[in-house]
Amino acid sequence: MKQHQIHILLGILGLCALALVASLYGFYRGQQKNKVVSTQLQQAQVQIEDLARTLENKNEEIEVHKELLRSVRQEVTNSNYDLSQMLSLIESATQTVEDIKKLEEADTELLAKYSKVFFLNEYYEPAQLAYIPSDLVSSDNNQQISSEVLPFLLSMTTAMKSSGLQPRIISAFRSFGYQGNLKQSYAVTYGTIAANQFVADQGYSEHQLGTTIDMVTASIGSDMLAFDTTPEYMWMLQNAYKYGFILSYPENNEYYEFEPWHWRFVGKKLATDLYNKGTTFYNTPQRDIDTYRLTMFEE
Ligand SMILES: [Zn+2]
Repeated sequence: MKQHQIHILLGILGLCALALVASLYGFYRGQQKNKVVSTQLQQAQVQIEDLARTLENKNEEIEVHKELLRSVRQEVTNSNYDLSQMLSLIESATQTVEDIKKLEEADTELLAKYSKVFFLNEYYEPAQLAYIPSDLVSSDNNQQISSEVLPFLLSMTTAMKSSGLQPRIISAFRSFGYQGNLKQSYAVTYGTIAANQFVADQGYSEHQLGTTIDMVTASIGSDMLAFDTTPEYMWMLQNAYKYGFILSYPENNEYYEFEPWHWRFVGKKLATDLYNKGTTFYNTPQRDIDTYRLTMFEE
């Protein structure tokens, strides 16, 4: 081989060696790079896993809080329920106390029975009396009635007048003493038998209660015995209960003579119930009547 051929060969060999070294280096660098990337990847994976764990924990925490909130809400709802229950208990207890108070204050005589059989204490006096308007009374302008009954009497007589009737009150409240005098004066005028027919003995009279009226009309004047022949009497039979008035001694009652003019206020509820049952005040047990005491003056 010639000298220059050897040089060329050596050159080629050298180039080949250089290329080999270069590619080896390249491979090495590539390997190194891969290593770094895969390390980064691993780290990223670890981070992601950490994050996932954290998220899971947070979710659990959120669930715990949610549960807590739910139970707090339930608690609030329950205590609200307890509170409203307690309030309604307090309310009904207050109502009961008020009812008891009313019953204690209520006049027990106002719904008691008085006739030949049942007596009223001579010392009894109504709580408060009011004068009956003069256009309603038949002669004596000083007729008085319980001030609690007056509004009911006025609505009733107003309704009568608007039906073309002319009711007049000839007698209302009468004291124990007055009742005695009246009986005597009637006995003088009409004789004892007639007086007994329409004036109760002292202490028997419902008039002492202040809740009772004797009704006549403009046309019959003071002739009470004629009242059952008037349209006013018919109207009273059909409508008086709506205003709380009842006929104390109806025809054929066993307690007193028939008194078509004599009407007693017992309250709308009792009067209406008696009317609907077709029974009378005096034929109803006192125990049943007493249950109406609380509502006697209710509209
Ligand atoms: Zn009377």
